[in-house]
Amino acid sequence: MSPALDLNTPIQYVKGVGPRLGEALAAKGLATVEDLLYYLPFRYEDRLNPRTISELRPGEMATVIAEVRNSGMFRTRSGKTIFQMVAGQGTARLKSLWFNARYLEGKFQPGQTVALYGKVEQDTRGGGLQVIQPQWEVLAEPGDENGDSSAQSLEVGRIVPIYESAHQGRITSKWFRRTIHGVLENLPELEETLPAAVRARHEMVPLQQAFWGVHWPEESTSLSDLQAARTPAHRRLIFEELFFLELGLELKRKRQRTQTGIAFSLEDRERQAIKRILPFRPTEAQKRVLKEIADDMRRPAPMRRLLQGDVGSGKTIVAFEAAIIAIENGYQVALMAPTEILATQHYLSARRILEQAGYRIVLLTGSLEPGRKRDLRRHLAQGNAQMVIGTHALIQETVEFANLGLVIVDEQHRFGVLQRMRLMKKTTESPAEPDTLVMTATPIPRTLALTLYGDLDVSVLDEMPPGRSPILTRRVSDERSEEVWTFLRKQVEAGHQAYVVYPVIEESEERELKAAISMYNKLRREVLAGLRVGLLHGRMQADEKDEAMRRFQAGETEVLVATTVIEVGVDVPNANLMVVEHAERFGLSQLHQLRGRIGRGTAKSYCVLMTGGKISDEAERRLDAMVRTNDGFQLAELDLELRGPGEFFGTRQAGMPTLRVANLVRDRELLELAKREAAAMLRSSSQEISREELERAVKHLRSHWNRRYGLVEVG
Ligand code: ADP
Ligand code: MG
Repeated sequence: MSPALDLNTPIQYVKGVGPRLGEALAAKGLATVEDLLYYLPFRYEDRLNPRTISELRPGEMATVIAEVRNSGMFRTRSGKTIFQMVAGQGTARLKSLWFNARYLEGKFQPGQTVALYGKVEQDTRGGGLQVIQPQWEVLAEPGDENGDSSAQSLEVGRIVPIYESAHQGRITSKWFRRTIHGVLENLPELEETLPAAVRARHEMVPLQQAFWGVHWPEESTSLSDLQAARTPAHRRLIFEELFFLELGLELKRKRQRTQTGIAFSLEDRERQAIKRILPFRPTEAQKRVLKEIADDMRRPAPMRRLLQGDVGSGKTIVAFEAAIIAIENGYQVALMAPTEILATQHYLSARRILEQAGYRIVLLTGSLEPGRKRDLRRHLAQGNAQMVIGTHALIQETVEFANLGLVIVDEQHRFGVLQRMRLMKKTTESPAEPDTLVMTATPIPRTLALTLYGDLDVSVLDEMPPGRSPILTRRVSDERSEEVWTFLRKQVEAGHQAYVVYPVIEESEERELKAAISMYNKLRREVLAGLRVGLLHGRMQADEKDEAMRRFQAGETEVLVATTVIEVGVDVPNANLMVVEHAERFGLSQLHQLRGRIGRGTAKSYCVLMTGGKISDEAERRLDAMVRTNDGFQLAELDLELRGPGEFFGTRQAGMPTLRVANLVRDRELLELAKREAAAMLRSSSQEISREELERAVKHLRSHWNRRYGLVEVG
């Protein structure tokens, strides 16, 4: 008899596991029975009707169960290595071939029972039949009692789940199949996690049934629904994961609402101050967004708002308007930028725009001398300076404020808001939480914004300031670089400026960096001789960088040769041409960020994507998309599709939840649903959900939040 199991049972007590395997599984994130049940097959195989070899016909897809006769590597005349395995049923034979498959050596022993699945072909040399690159699995070893029919029935005569193997292949799909099946059979009745009303509304199958359905689908289940994770069982598990994620974020948000913040006043005086200072007429989008921000600021709860706007949409000025409200109310403002270049640039515009009102603004950068830093910090602590601008680290770590009222975080395209929010609380001793405005230039597809920034309110600047013509983007092979440089020269002669960008790739940063530097020398001396060329890259000293930026901004240099350090926030409206070399090496969002540096003035702007060498299909699609559209949201959608959510945000970026069964690209519609239901559940007017159900759900969330989603605690 098997010991009683429940979801929390450590995996080592599961029949057939034990301490050693248990450890290996735990390393893969499978520590409990529950983890094992959420370890879903990544594919399913139809082994309902295995065929006999003699009835196979060329051209059909088939599953065959047969006995291994022999196997081995051989080399073709053209030098390719091929692994061949011959399986048989009585006198009938079937050959399987795999190309470049050294890893198969030693995997098959004569007498083993194997399942093969693939397309049947005529063997052009032997006359019999063969299968090329079939999917395969060893079902039984030579010595195995074939009488073990219950074990056999897990492998054949049904739709069979295929699991990713673990522990360098030592824990096989077959092992998972048997073990999970054993667990399912010994599981007591599971308590429901989802509220009954929610389950009923969306026809969600019970939890237990869902586990059976994903691991042991009924014969009648559609194979394509299974592969697409669209069976009722899949939907149920995916929904549940997303529901609790959204519930957690919703709770977090509710809690923030009850914190004490500052109720800023926004009367005629503050409005006049804004009007006086504004250098241009705001766009309709800027007006709308400012109103959303101002409404938040007037409320007594702390603002937690995300301002999303494509590069060049005019976020900075909106942030400054918010700053004016805070300062006019007698509070201080901190603006944090991701890089020193950007901090410096914000500082220069803040002085240009805000200092006319008599505000005192300071710039805090790492390169300041210690004495000067101490002075600035003292001014902030005593309330002599109204605004400080610097990098995140600098402001979070070392600054005390007399009266901090507003924190503006310029995230640009870096993520990690959730974590950062936690750090920011430390910046003040006062009981009132300052308001927070996070700005990002990464157009995040809406559904993802719901997840990633689930505890923030979102404002979107979806309109560009007037007088800009769209950027013309062209792809050019670097064999035609002569023409590109001639074009560049023409633009500069017409009084414009240009960027020339080279990739920096992490693994070979040194070498790539040399590419930027050596190209700088080459362009300056040869191709662009006579033009004033500057250089900017990440390894330069902070003051050298500042100087290079300043010279370009002032028009002292006409061409700036740079690495991606310029992708963040640089604003030189007179630059109307960007040449990106080896554009195929850049990611889509990176290219979009880069291109956002031009098209900021009224002159027509051009982006030239030069490519050299071999280009992957994915790179082709990126470049095509860049040529086709300037719309950041469209590009973000495509980027997400091409790379998947993990890569899109960088692996395990701070603040990004890890999901086990849901996929944010595939399951957007379920995410929307989960979000709506989670919000509805917490509404106090909700009648359908009993107090007990609510408590149960919150308890479930508490015990799962950290482990399931890898997010900071809900509180
Ligand atoms: P973002 O930070 O969103 O990328 P910026 O705030 O740097 O964009 O603004 C881009 C450029 O547009 C800046 O030169 C800014 O001065 C200008 N700008 C912003 N709003 C307006 C407006 N309403 N009318 C005209 N120009 C504007
Ligand atoms: Mg900006």
